[in-house]
Amino acid sequence: MELYDLSIARCRKLLEEREVTSREVTASVLGRIERVEGSVRSFITVNAEEALNDAALKDKEEQSPEKPLLGVPLAVKDIICTKGLRTTCGSRILEGFVPPFDATCVARLRSAGAVIIGKTNLDEFAMGSSTENSGFFPTKNPWDLNRVPGGSSGGSAAAVAAGECIGSLGTDTGGSIRQPASHCGVVGLKPTYGRVSRYGLVAFASSLDQAGPITKDVLDAAILMNVISGHDPKDSTCAPVEVPDFTESLIPGLGGLKVGLPREYFGEGVDPEVAGLVRRAVEMLKDAGAEVKEVSLPHTDYAVAAYYIIAPAEASSNLARYDGVRYGLRVDEDRGLREMYEATRAKGFGAEVKRRIVLGTYALSSGYYDAYYRKASQVRTLVLNDFKEAFKEVDIIAAPVAPTPAFKLGELVDDPLTMYLSDVFTLPGSLAGIPGISIPAGFTSRGLPVGVQILGPHFGEEVILKAAYNVELARGDLGKAPEL
Ligand code: GLN
Repeated sequence: MELYDLSIARCRKLLEEREVTSREVTASVLGRIERVEGSVRSFITVNAEEALNDAALKDKEEQSPEKPLLGVPLAVKDIICTKGLRTTCGSRILEGFVPPFDATCVARLRSAGAVIIGKTNLDEFAMGSSTENSGFFPTKNPWDLNRVPGGSSGGSAAAVAAGECIGSLGTDTGGSIRQPASHCGVVGLKPTYGRVSRYGLVAFASSLDQAGPITKDVLDAAILMNVISGHDPKDSTCAPVEVPDFTESLIPGLGGLKVGLPREYFGEGVDPEVAGLVRRAVEMLKDAGAEVKEVSLPHTDYAVAAYYIIAPAEASSNLARYDGVRYGLRVDEDRGLREMYEATRAKGFGAEVKRRIVLGTYALSSGYYDAYYRKASQVRTLVLNDFKEAFKEVDIIAAPVAPTPAFKLGELVDDPLTMYLSDVFTLPGSLAGIPGISIPAGFTSRGLPVGVQILGPHFGEEVILKAAYNVELARGDLGKAPEL
C-alpha cells in the first residue's frame, strides 16, 4: 500500500506515531497526481509547492486534539473560496479570481491542521451532473476513463477514488456530493441544510447549497463532519445547533432501527443492476438488526420540475454579480457599460450556465413568478412533507443515488433534459434540506461502482452515518481499486 492510499484516520495514526511525516504523505499524493492526472484530470489547480512547504511546517507543529487533521493533504472543490489560492468555480468568468479570504469550512480545515493540496474540477458554478460543463475540461471516471465521474463535484470524487488526495470537500445543491461519490465508489455526505456554514461557498442556489465531505470511508466522513460543522455568525442560515462527535455514532449493530424503502425510488427507469446492489445493501442493514418496510414519498415525481425552477431562479439572481466590474473577466472595456456587461457574460459563461440564467430570469419575471417560482416553492413544501410523514414511521430511508451507473462521456451532454432527470433520486432530499450519504454498495458486471443513498431527518447525520458504517462493515473491503 502506498501513502496516497491512506484514509484520513490511518494517515493521522501514522503521523501521530511519527511513522511517517506529512511531507512524505504530501509528496506521495503529489507524485500520484503527477502520474494519473494526465488521464483523470481531477484538478483545476494543484497547490504543489505551497502544500509541500505547509506540510513541512505541520511536521514541526505540536499534536493536539484541536488538530484532528494535522498534516493530512486534502482537496477542495473549486467553488469554495481559498485565501490566496485561485478559485474559478469551473468558469472562465472567474479564471483569474484569487479570493482574499477563506470559506469558513476551509478555515476550519486549516485550523484543524489540514494541508490544502489543490482545487478540484466541477461543472461550471456546480450546474451539472457529469463535470462535463466545466469551463476548462471534463474529469474522467477513474474506474472507466470513457465515463463521467458524475457531478458537479466530479473532481473531488475522482481525486479521492484515484488516490490524488486523502479526502476532499464537495458541495451539494441537488446531488453534487452524493452522485459523484456513487459513480466513483467513494463516500459522500450532504449535510442538513444549515449544518455547515455557506460563508465563502460561491452561491449557486442559496436555499439548497451545502458543503460536505467526500472520503474513502465512513469514518473519514465523520471526522471531516466534526471539523466543518457548526454555527457560524457569518452565515445567518447556519443553524446554532450542537455538533456531536460524529465518530461516536459508528458502532456495529442496528437493533431497533427502522429503515424505509420508498416505493417511488424502485420503479421503472432504475437500472436492474443498480436496484439489485441497493437491495443487497438493504439486506446488510437487515442483517445488522434493522427492520425494513416500504414507505411512500408521493411527490417524488414533481421534485425534478420544482428543483429546475427554484435552482435556476436563485442562480439567475446570484450570478448577476458577474458583470465584469467586481470580479474576474472583463471584455470590451472601451465600449459602453451595457456592451461591456453583455460581452463579458457572453464570453465568460458556458452554455449550461446561460441556459439556467435564462430559465431562472423567466421564472422570476413579473407575471410569471406566481406560475413558476411560487408554484415550485409550494411543491417543495409538499416534498418536504412527504419526508416528514415518512420519518414518523421510519428512522432512515434507503434508496438508489442515481438510476444508472456512470454514463459515457458525451452521452447526455447535448440532452439537458435527460441529464436533469438523472437527478431524480437526489433532488427530493435537497429540496427538503435533509442529510444524505452515498456509500459504495458494490460493482456492476462492467465493474462500475454503485452507491446506496441513506437519507435521514433534519440534523440526523448521526443515524445515517451509523447505518452507512454498518453497510461498510458488512460489505467489507471493496476488494479492488481503479487501474490507472
Ligand atoms: N445536477 C444538479 C444540477 O445540475 C445538482 C447540481 C449540484 O448539486 N450542484 O443542478
